[in-house]
Amino acid sequence: EGRRLAKLANAPSRTRDGVEIKLLANAESATDVAMARARGADGVGLYRTEFLFLRHKGLPSEEEQFVAYRDLVMGMGGLPVTIRTLDLGADKADAAGIALRGEDNPALGVRGVRLSLRHPAVFTTQIRAILRAACYGPMRVLVPMITQPDELIAVRTLFKLARQELKQEGIDLPEKLPLGAMIEVPAAAITVRALLEHADFLAIGTNDLAQYVLAADRGNDALENVYNPLHPALLRLICHVISAGRRVGKSVSLCGEIGGDVNFTALLLALGLGEFSMHPSQILQVRDRLGELDRSELRRLAPQLIRAHTHEQVEALLATLDSALP
Ligand code: PEP
Ligand code: MG
Repeated sequence: EGRRLAKLANAPSRTRDGVEIKLLANAESATDVAMARARGADGVGLYRTEFLFLRHKGLPSEEEQFVAYRDLVMGMGGLPVTIRTLDLGADKADAAGIALRGEDNPALGVRGVRLSLRHPAVFTTQIRAILRAACYGPMRVLVPMITQPDELIAVRTLFKLARQELKQEGIDLPEKLPLGAMIEVPAAAITVRALLEHADFLAIGTNDLAQYVLAADRGNDALENVYNPLHPALLRLICHVISAGRRVGKSVSLCGEIGGDVNFTALLLALGLGEFSMHPSQILQVRDRLGELDRSELRRLAPQLIRAHTHEQVEALLATLDSALP
């Protein structure tokens, strides 16, 4: 089995009916990057920069961040990388050197872009490091916890200001740097068309989207029966976001845990997903699974999937497919 999968490292990522799918890596460390390349990832779909802040136990300097981001881009050897701006909340910010008032509900608190926009000096240091690193290879910037367009507009403004500053300092700048929104807050998913007027691309974060849609803490084991990514409410939102992106020709990827879980590959193809981002250890399994699946057949199932009343119905629909596998 291991040897059979290893042979897939250089194979294209294609469904049985020949549709090319992008397989991207969620990568933080040099080890992840090496694994992503060894397994033939099409790029990095999610680089969680908070790891850098937490590992550091304090604020990393512009230079330290620049080196980390540059090494990431160069390590991917010309493949595109997606850097996510800081996604810390009150539960983790102190460790990173940002002093915050305690919050009763950190998951519903000053987290992600909300935190970054309240600490413009910290955020601008990160933005400068990103802009400088973007000269070393293709890069995109992803903003976490977006709820409404004004947040994305504010981030774009900070990027513009940082560009002017760097230009005055005579530092090289990338020509363009796509700015995208994580879709992980239900309001953002529902009103995604408004966000698409300001976002160059989208990445669906199903770990948080499921947590907020189902009102179930993603880390609470006692809620495993509630935190079910097959809930039709979540499927409808995912489908809505993918279709909205497709309508305006903007890229939509998905980078939650289910993106790398072969039990969800058929479902996500059915909902129209064309870019999966996952831990690099999952890439070969997902590529293998894609080869078993017929995308056009799955797409015909989408209306039934999103009209399902319960996750049991969704499971039953998916099971009819599995019995039809060769
Ligand atoms: C998500 O929320 O699905 C996601 C990919 O981001 P994180 O797990 O870092 O919150
Ligand atoms: Mg998230």
